[in-house]
Amino acid sequence: MSAAPGSESPRYDAVVIGAGHNGLVHASYLARAGMKTLLLEQRHLVGGAAITEELLPGFQFTTFSYAISLLRPEIVDDLDLVEHGLMVLPLANTFQPGLDGEHLLLGPDADANYHEIARFSAEDAEAARDLDHLIARLCVALKPWMDRIPPNSRSDDPAELASLAELRAFMDGLDPEVRALGEQFATSSAADILDGTFEHDLVKALYASSGIIGSMVSPRDRESGLIWLFHKMGEYDGSPGSWGFHKGGNGGFTQVLARSCEAFGGEIRTEARVERVVHEGGVVRGVELAGGERIEAPVVVSALDPRQTFTRLVDAGDMPADLIEHLEGYKYQGSASKVNFALSALPTFPGLEDRADLFRGFTNLGPSMDYLHQAFTEAKEGRFSRRPFIDCCIQSTVDPEMSPPGKHVMSCFVMYTPYKLAEGTWDDQREALGDTVQETLEEFFPGFSELVLHREVVTPLDIERTVGLSEGNIFAGELFDSQLFLSRPAPGWNQYRTPISGYYQCGSGTHPGGCVSGGPGMLAARQVLGDVQKGA
Ligand SMILES: Cc1cc2nc3c(=O)[nH]c(=O)nc-3n(C[C@H](O)[C@H](O)[C@H](O)COP(=O)(O)OP(=O)(O)OC[C@H]3O[C@@H](n4cnc5c(N)ncnc54)[C@H](O)[C@@H]3O)c2cc1C
Repeated sequence: MSAAPGSESPRYDAVVIGAGHNGLVHASYLARAGMKTLLLEQRHLVGGAAITEELLPGFQFTTFSYAISLLRPEIVDDLDLVEHGLMVLPLANTFQPGLDGEHLLLGPDADANYHEIARFSAEDAEAARDLDHLIARLCVALKPWMDRIPPNSRSDDPAELASLAELRAFMDGLDPEVRALGEQFATSSAADILDGTFEHDLVKALYASSGIIGSMVSPRDRESGLIWLFHKMGEYDGSPGSWGFHKGGNGGFTQVLARSCEAFGGEIRTEARVERVVHEGGVVRGVELAGGERIEAPVVVSALDPRQTFTRLVDAGDMPADLIEHLEGYKYQGSASKVNFALSALPTFPGLEDRADLFRGFTNLGPSMDYLHQAFTEAKEGRFSRRPFIDCCIQSTVDPEMSPPGKHVMSCFVMYTPYKLAEGTWDDQREALGDTVQETLEEFFPGFSELVLHREVVTPLDIERTVGLSEGNIFAGELFDSQLFLSRPAPGWNQYRTPISGYYQCGSGTHPGGCVSGGPGMLAARQVLGDVQKGA
């Protein structure tokens, strides 16, 4: 740390605000490039929405996010993450129980999956195989656009015009079958696609869950098509669409990122809340912390969401009016909660009591399209779903060190739980939500409640209060087409810069969007380093 001549303030080449996983990735890249980089985090720990906390002795809770798929492979290599402890444990199963005793149990063996689905419908088994293959082809084709700075549709710079022309040529050059599926995802609801593909409701509902995760949409809403595709864009070890748990939970992952950042020389300061970004004459000067401390830097990067970046850390009045107007219409509308349990033993599903591997992956509690739609309808009216969709996993089955021997930790991602309740507040309703989730689990797994040693309920309001994600939106803004790619977070401001020279954005509200991907942190670093090199 050094002081500017004639000033008391410490000075860095770059200050990054917010040590969520994107802030960590970003700061690592800048430090790796030789910039003297300081990462400031308001909380006592790094990780943001990707943390692990021991809430009961021996039980490691992934308070918020719990699984990994979209992590950009380039980051693993660039930041030496394996050397720093990266360990993604692949998931063995996806379990979809019905309320009538039926179930689907799918795993990594495509042939076994075929036969499992064929128990319900041979046509569906065939269709699932074809659809999975076509989706994988589409994702592989789209991947390069996930991993590059998107074109600026508002610029007449020849490089941007060339990039837009490249995008059009790419679309035109896609294999017709792959392109048709891409267009379907962009224009149809998950339900429309599924109704045209499958017969059996349990199969449809399993696929539909990817189209609603973290979003205030029914699988019958048009936006669910694109959200489904987004959740398929991940991979692990070259296997498209696969998901895993990081050793020690997602907090284990962000600790790996912190070690990488520090190994490159990045400095991380916790309990350092940034109150405002200091700028003068349209040029950034540094930041001011709560308590008044000032830190100077010619580059300041916000890893917070667009509302925080453009209207809290700086005055909205200092931003162009059209940008602020656009951001006022940017949708957050958080819809998800988390209920985490410490369990004395594994739950059981009637008829599958002897399947110890049942929970070695995701368990989807949303057995029909009507069930999912009904859960949404209640939330649209401002109430949390009385029979919620729950995506759960028992991470201790894959990573036994997450709990004491023989005991377990269970993560339940719960939808729909609207940020804005029609009646009451989340502070009043928190435990009622916990009870509803527990009752729903009891319906699928009789005797569940007797296993509960401890319960943690995290509502959208808690997400906002703790991590700062506005309205508790887990992605820092809905993954709607109007808020992705050329428009994330706003047309013309989708390339990580802001209207203040030297002030950048690198959080999930930028391309490619939310989830534990690190993509925004990485691509923003590319932009910052390019600008620094050019002396911009
Ligand atoms: C309940 C839940 C479950 C999820 N499940 C999954 C999942 O299983 N898999 C997946 O891929 N994604 C999941 N997600 C989404 C994913 O976790 C997020 O999209 C992602 O972690 C956001 O990362 P980020 O770095 O962009 O921002 P954040 O994680 O929000 O980090 C922002 C950081 O900035 C800090 N901060 C805020 N204000 C200030 C300030 N003024 N000064 C200094 N620091 C500040 C915050 O404390 C925080 O550490 C989930 C999210 C939630 C909430």
